Amino acid sequence: MNELSRPLPSLSAPMTDPFGRTISYLRVSVTDRCDLRCFYCMSEDMTFLPKADLLTLEELDRLCSAFIAKGVRKLRLTGGEPLVRRNVMSLVRSLSRHLASGTLRELTLTTNGSQLARFAAELRDHGVRRVNVSLDTLDPAKFRAITRWGDLDKVLSGIEAARSAGLAVKINAVALKNLNEDEIPSLMEWAHGNGMALTLIEVMPMGEIGEGRIDQYVPLSLVRARLAQHYTLTDLDDNTGGPARYVGVSETGGKLGFITPMTHNFCESCNRVRITCTGTLHTCLGQEDAADLRKPLRASADDELLSAAIDRAIGQKPKGHDFIIDRRHNRPSVSRHMSVTGG
Ligand code: SAM
Ligand code: SF4
Repeated sequence: MNELSRPLPSLSAPMTDPFGRTISYLRVSVTDRCDLRCFYCMSEDMTFLPKADLLTLEELDRLCSAFIAKGVRKLRLTGGEPLVRRNVMSLVRSLSRHLASGTLRELTLTTNGSQLARFAAELRDHGVRRVNVSLDTLDPAKFRAITRWGDLDKVLSGIEAARSAGLAVKINAVALKNLNEDEIPSLMEWAHGNGMALTLIEVMPMGEIGEGRIDQYVPLSLVRARLAQHYTLTDLDDNTGGPARYVGVSETGGKLGFITPMTHNFCESCNRVRITCTGTLHTCLGQEDAADLRKPLRASADDELLSAAIDRAIGQKPKGHDFIIDRRHNRPSVSRHMSVTGG
């Protein structure tokens, strides 16, 4: 099938949830597999979904296109590691027709960067302009410890290739107790020195990872207070409707974001939903709610059943999550791993 020749779906009214929030952002986990095993994300002996359960790339395209027809304007491919899904570039290429038509404003991805050197130029050719690269440390030994077997040099080359190809890169780092806490200032200086924003993320209690979360979790309020002793942080107003709150750092001239699901709930402005590689729709990252879209997708060639199933699910989008990590709540809040839901 030539996706570029498939007609664009007709547009309908934007999706609005019961709390009046317009849903315009879709995150798609194209695979639950990954070439790394970050210890806060996966257990060492992860069981992955049987390949037969996965939607094909054509089905993922159709699903994404249905959401775009229903008002999605920003689409992020994620995973697992999106760049390890075989032939993923054909999906990026086919989705880029929605950029060309002006229906989709942004097509982007979140990646661990390990395969970026291979794909950066092609991503740029298909209309991708920005990527988020997850990188928690610049210390090769710590990087190996966090990812269990990753090679920092590969990620750094990937970032370099992305920047050379003309992609804007934002670095995402999970703040990890006793691991990269001390390194956050140098990570920030490095990112800002290379013209990249840095966003810090609080570890969330998602999925069984073979250990408790209390030993990993460090509140970003504490990280911010420590940074403020050495840097001038000024709140910025560029709130993109996302969970990050940004500050400008006078000394580096760069931007620093904080994603604080644990210490500050960001659900009131939530504009996003997520689909997994098996076609399950999760309307909230932190709740067990799930709607199967694979069945209506496969039940008929037109999108009527699919569209109705999406509307039903959006009509039940929960108000928000209630993640807690403390001594009494040291278990996952949701059983899904971030790699399944699509972080
Ligand atoms: N593999 C890609 C990557 O690492 O960028 C994309 C998927 S990964 C699940 C997306 C983001 O989720 C990464 O920035 C990762 O650090 C973050 N993440 C994974 N598990 C997390 C958790 N339990 N709490 C907070 N962030 C998590
Ligand atoms: Fe893989 Fe990303 Fe999870 Fe790390 S955070 S194990 S790179 S999916």
